[in-house]
Amino acid sequence: MHCHRPHGDIARIFRDLFPAHGMTERPEQTALAHRLLDAMLNNEIALCDAGTGIGKTYAVLAAVAVFSEFCRTDGRPFQPIIVSTSGIDLQEAIVKRYLPFISSMLEADGIISEPLRTVLRKGKANYICEERLLWRFRETGRGKNVKTHEALRKLLMNPGVTETDDLKPYERKRVCVPAECRCGRKSCRYYDYTERCNTERYPFQICNHNLLLADAMRKQSGHRSVLPAYGSLIIDESHKLPEAARQMMGRALEAEELRDAVRILREQSLSGEAEELSSVSKALIARLEKPPDDAPFDSFTRLLTAPNRVLKTVLSRRKHTMNAPTRGQLERLSATVDIFCAKMPGNLYYLEENERGETVLCAAPPNFAEELDRLLWSAGKPVALLSGTLTAGGSFRPFREEAGLLENPRVRESVFPSPFDYERNCLLYFPKNAPRRKGGAIPLYYDELAKEMSALITAAYGHTLILFTSYADMSSLTERLAKEEMRWPLFRERAFEKGYRK
Ligand code: SF4
Repeated sequence: MHCHRPHGDIARIFRDLFPAHGMTERPEQTALAHRLLDAMLNNEIALCDAGTGIGKTYAVLAAVAVFSEFCRTDGRPFQPIIVSTSGIDLQEAIVKRYLPFISSMLEADGIISEPLRTVLRKGKANYICEERLLWRFRETGRGKNVKTHEALRKLLMNPGVTETDDLKPYERKRVCVPAECRCGRKSCRYYDYTERCNTERYPFQICNHNLLLADAMRKQSGHRSVLPAYGSLIIDESHKLPEAARQMMGRALEAEELRDAVRILREQSLSGEAEELSSVSKALIARLEKPPDDAPFDSFTRLLTAPNRVLKTVLSRRKHTMNAPTRGQLERLSATVDIFCAKMPGNLYYLEENERGETVLCAAPPNFAEELDRLLWSAGKPVALLSGTLTAGGSFRPFREEAGLLENPRVRESVFPSPFDYERNCLLYFPKNAPRRKGGAIPLYYDELAKEMSALITAAYGHTLILFTSYADMSSLTERLAKEEMRWPLFRERAFEKGYRK
């Protein structure tokens, strides 16, 4: 199928409209937008390795806008396009900056006939569950926490508020929408909100990879889904999709969940049980509160046996003394602990570091690539996967293997090189005597590394971005660099996103 008009619109947007608004014409960006449009028109799975600096986001938005308008004028049934990205920053930038700009530009030029509307769909943990809010309100009424009780009362009285934004992290977790709804209500503020998002004809909806996968998993197991049936799917930063799938299909356990379990038992006036769980979990919590080290995974499994036994006893003896949300939370925790205690053969068990620099125990099924195929690709919808790092050594094969796309006949591969002249503008430096992490001498290694970094920062007159793979390394190096008394300010940024499935 070859459609001249939508492709003509894409050409006009990048050749005339963007330059008229002071933006440079980039041939790779235009080519990418044409490719995305083709994928949607021809029902393909487009793998697009798009280098840094191409302007992917505008290419995506232009292609989506032109395709939506084409479907509308062609009399095709309305089906929104889902754009999934991995970070909240990009999602908010799309909603607040990129989209209003491109929408008004295209509308003024007559390429689209109505403004582009979008809605940002966040994960369940960001929304209020009516049932849990009510439970928590009653619970706090018995204690001394007057301020929290008042804040919850205000939320109860105001059904228009759907998000948990104004609550403290612990309260947010207590009142947010649970992984599984068992209350039996036909309607509540959360499902009324999702219903509105799905019926109000937003031509495209933005979410993150975790929500996209969680929703596909819910749909597949016959549960109520929160995202609408979509016409096309665009997955930006798609190199992060396999990792998101590993997390969503697996389980994770961190110290915070055990601490929370102790706290909610106390709140339920089960102080004997709370103290017992706290005492048998002490050693495990202490280990989990540190960054992962070289210790084997099994050294954690041994520490899980006693908390596992106590959780099971509490659940069987006190099941009817606790309220439903507390029981649900403890049952989920117990099921997670079971998975780590059983160490099922075939599962992948590993340690991760969370945003607080603590250890997370992770378990993932071995066949998540097949699962991805069942969840996302076999629906037969057009999909575009974009990233600056989809190829390795010039081949898409490693990514296709990981994402369950190796044999898929709908896949089309394209590479859009970065317009940056790396050869002229970059210098690659390999230190001759690179500091090495030798056994236990880690502070010494950090000292040497900080010295090397400080010399490089000075040589570059500041202007330096340092990337770390570990929060522990980042904290130790920031501390040391701050003492180097350089002429340039030092900023530390860290991701606050957490995608582990509870
Ligand atoms: S349906 Fe789900 S979100 Fe709504 S009140 Fe019930 S448990 Fe909460």
